Amino acid sequence: MWFWLRVKPEKSGGVAEFRRSKPEEAGEKSLKKPLFRLLISAIFYDIIKRIMLQRPVLILNSSYEVLNVTNLKRGLKLLLSGKAEVVKADGVLVHGGQTSFPAPSILKLRYFVSIPYHPLPLNRRNVMFRDNFTCQYCGKRSLTGMTIDHIIPRSLGGKTAWDNVVCACKSCNEKKGDLRPQDRRMKLLKNPGQPVYSPLFRACLENFPPEWASYLAPVRQENNQGS
Ligand SMILES: [Zn+2]
Repeated sequence: MWFWLRVKPEKSGGVAEFRRSKPEEAGEKSLKKPLFRLLISAIFYDIIKRIMLQRPVLILNSSYEVLNVTNLKRGLKLLLSGKAEVVKADGVLVHGGQTSFPAPSILKLRYFVSIPYHPLPLNRRNVMFRDNFTCQYCGKRSLTGMTIDHIIPRSLGGKTAWDNVVCACKSCNEKKGDLRPQDRRMKLLKNPGQPVYSPLFRACLENFPPEWASYLAPVRQENNQGS
């Protein structure tokens, strides 16, 4: 049963009223409305699906050691190919074909992966992640406009090394200029060093889901020691 909104002509006061549509009028509307609703639903579903597939999933080695953080899309590939099994699910249902199952939050590989140690390359991006985009002099945090500061300036023989470069805001960098921090009475928030894990991984660890806590405790301890 379709209804449509009709506006009465001026002479009747222009008042809107609802009335039951005639069969032929309903036929025209029934073609347009469901199509429009279907299109909106499809767009909405696609947006939700894309957001859901970016949810973080913690990957553990077969020995329960933390390996990496990936997204749900890659996690599902590991799961469906039989390379991993679910350790913890987060309560969100994933529908595929005729079946539905809880989306994984933690996956464990079915086989052991040995990861060789590769020193993290020293570059601007990695320094920013290591320092969490936070000025190491004043504590201001911003994802844009941060600079790299050489603690001992290059003009005074300072090297470009993990323990001599920090993230600094523009005003602190300008204030410090080509001098040592102590010359300007500036103090570092912490002594910089080479990060133990990938800074990207470290960034993910800062807002992890509560169910990851017990697996991440040793990793966080090592990260704190490494910075
Ligand atoms: Zn600053």
